[in-house]
Amino acid sequence: MRIAGLQKTTLLDYPGKVACTVFLAGCNFRCPFCQNAEILDGCPDGIAEEELFSFLGRRRGILDGVCVTGGEPLCGEIAPFLQKIKALGYAVKLDTNGAFPERLKALAAKGLLDFIAMDIKSSPARYPALAGVKCDTAKIKESAAFLMESGIPYEFRTTCVKPLHRPEDFVYIGQWLAGAKAYFLQNFRQSDAVPAKGLSPFSHHEMQALLQLVLPYISNAQIRGE
Ligand code: SF4
Repeated sequence: MRIAGLQKTTLLDYPGKVACTVFLAGCNFRCPFCQNAEILDGCPDGIAEEELFSFLGRRRGILDGVCVTGGEPLCGEIAPFLQKIKALGYAVKLDTNGAFPERLKALAAKGLLDFIAMDIKSSPARYPALAGVKCDTAKIKESAAFLMESGIPYEFRTTCVKPLHRPEDFVYIGQWLAGAKAYFLQNFRQSDAVPAKGLSPFSHHEMQALLQLVLPYISNAQIRGE
């Protein structure tokens, strides 16, 4: 388990819970807008697992949940890791890019997931441009379908990036995820960590226009963070 980092407290990452966020190194995607590009291939100065569990042991009764994010957590076998977190009494939220539906389902079947947040990079046809690699969109769709039928609380979210996203992408996303319980549009944030140049956020009005394209299909879609 390559633990790249730990955010000791967050009120934002796990809906309704006071949580910490654990960043696992490694990812199968290379999104040009990634904010965590320095941990996609590993992390020389990570946190030892014993150190993390010592922290979690001390925070019992103070924190309710643990967000497991990345990178892409499902690049590795994380069931034993999640079992140890659950054994301490924490709820687990998993962030995933949806590329590993079999692993996602296996963790859910073991009762190790209390909340799943899945990135929707773009419309299926535009996935390679947004993920930065060739990817099997059938697997992405399989993960999304699983979230909608699993009974586990979930959300979908898209980071909206200019000029990578076109308005029509949001029509396709809406049609694809029609009836989803929770879908958030999040605007891109420029930072030195982002690997690609020439990207920018949408304006407030542009974000509102993108939301309007989704709402006919996902009636409770929202913009997050504005
Ligand atoms: S899936 Fe997430 S962690 Fe991986 S490259 Fe894309 S934005 Fe970065």
